[in-house]
Amino acid sequence: MHELSIASSIIDSLKAKFQDERLQITEINLQVGKLTCLLPESLQFCFDSLRQDKLVKNATLKIETINGTGFCQECNEKYPMEALYTVCPKCQTPGMEIVQGNELKIKSVEVEDV
Ligand SMILES: [Zn+2]
Repeated sequence: MHELSIASSIIDSLKAKFQDERLQITEINLQVGKLTCLLPESLQFCFDSLRQDKLVKNATLKIETINGTGFCQECNEKYPMEALYTVCPKCQTPGMEIVQGNELKIKSVEVEDV
């Protein structure tokens, strides 16, 4: 499952960032673009199955979904993208630039001393 490796790499990067044993993460704010094809529920499930580590044991995972937006270089049209491979709705040119929707990033985390 793709989400499992993503969840695992998120936890790894947090562990690398917060190496102090006294720290615990209480909240993780994640941004996931729709065009990544990652399912938020699935990501949540995988995260929960990996939360043995003390650092993330009590962390709440909040997932913000970012809608896809494409930009057509032929006609300078910006439009919503539902899938990765679509054509411009105005001029039918395939292969537009992705303006947003393929992000996968940790926007912020809340940490507390225990
Ligand atoms: Zn176009």
